[in-house]
Amino acid sequence: MFRGGVHPPGHKEATAGSAVEWAPVPARLVVPMSQHLGAPCVPTVAVGDRVSRGQVIGDIEAMVSAPVHSPVNGTVAEVGTTLTAAGMTVKAVVIDADEAQELESFVPVPDTGDARARVRGAGIVGMGGATFPSVVKLTPPKDADVHTVILNGCECEPFLTCDHRLMLEQPERVIAGAKHVREIIGAKRVIIALESNKPDALEALRAAADDTIEVVALPTRYPQGAEKQLIYALLKTEVPHGKLPSAAGVLVHNVATAVAIADALETGKPLTERIVTVTGSVARPGNYRVLLGTLVSELIETAGGLVGDVERVISGGPMTGMALGSLDVPVTKGMSGIVAVPKGMAAPAIADDQPCMRCGRCPQTCPMGLEPYALATFADRRMWDAAAKRNVLDCIECGVCSYVCPTKRPLLQLIRLAKAAAMAKGVKS
Ligand code: SF4
Ligand code: SF4
Repeated sequence: MFRGGVHPPGHKEATAGSAVEWAPVPARLVVPMSQHLGAPCVPTVAVGDRVSRGQVIGDIEAMVSAPVHSPVNGTVAEVGTTLTAAGMTVKAVVIDADEAQELESFVPVPDTGDARARVRGAGIVGMGGATFPSVVKLTPPKDADVHTVILNGCECEPFLTCDHRLMLEQPERVIAGAKHVREIIGAKRVIIALESNKPDALEALRAAADDTIEVVALPTRYPQGAEKQLIYALLKTEVPHGKLPSAAGVLVHNVATAVAIADALETGKPLTERIVTVTGSVARPGNYRVLLGTLVSELIETAGGLVGDVERVISGGPMTGMALGSLDVPVTKGMSGIVAVPKGMAAPAIADDQPCMRCGRCPQTCPMGLEPYALATFADRRMWDAAAKRNVLDCIECGVCSYVCPTKRPLLQLIRLAKAAAMAKGVKS
């Protein structure tokens, strides 16, 4: 077991039993050119162009990036900008979808015999929320001896069940993804890890796996799904300070990312849709397979609309997610959930800040051994160097500190500010 952490209420009952269903094809899709960490893509299409489902509509020559594909057959209506769930304005291609769509068909990524190139060509990024281009992870430094691949199916965030349903409904695709990643990396060992609160998915995966794949149930504890915590829980190995998991001989991929990799390598399928859990105060909570570029407002309508007194709508889970300033933002590759949080359950905004009462809970529960109360105070006072010296860049943004704080200090939001400032100053962790 990793250090610290908490056991928040799961709130997964509303959707854990809901089979994945397709969300309707929107009449118009807004496809951002930046759905990943790294260089934003440049649109490769112009207004009036006909586009086919799976066709590249944005790309850039950069190591850390991922091309973007049209999710539908249609016509480019606009090449402009859009607001994202993270509150940023990025370039976007707006596509009017044809009335009739064949979602089983797509323009395949060519097979040149180079698996990494095909993964890159399919635009695959970390679908657990990190959105790091998968090809970069699949290309560890030459001196790294990556012996173990871990597929992360923990989904420890409250409310989210998209990975749970994927593992339950398509265990053989998860196993296929695990084998492809193992082959690309040349790893000896493959572990699929999930929390013990998903016994049906555990059983399905064990039934689909052969004896070269280990399927392991871990205790249900947040943030079990964070990379460093997961590696420690499974292997009792610490990733060295400031290093990537490859430095410890490990590669971690989310289970949905692994399925996308399997699809790309077996059929050439680019990443044009994903499963999103829509839950909380909506009329019809569920797990929806959603075309990228669908607006969150339309997805919420698919889920029956908002009900009751909703304080905020969050993209991702409530521990790490972002409150949406507008519902007219598109679904992107890393968006695992939309949670409509009822009044009284939401974390406070920065304007509601309360003083620290020195209770000691946040340093006791921080899984990275940080002092969140001090980092937040430095952020409050714009003391970025002091925050950097106290290792603010080690923060994995799990939100545990905000969760346990009795005075409801918005610790995570403040620490994110300090991290951004430290990175802007070029501080290395
Ligand atoms: S400081 Fe960062 S790593 Fe520690 S509990 Fe807070 S959000 Fe998590
Ligand atoms: S949990 Fe809140 S009140 Fe307690 S030490 Fe941390 S910031 Fe202060």
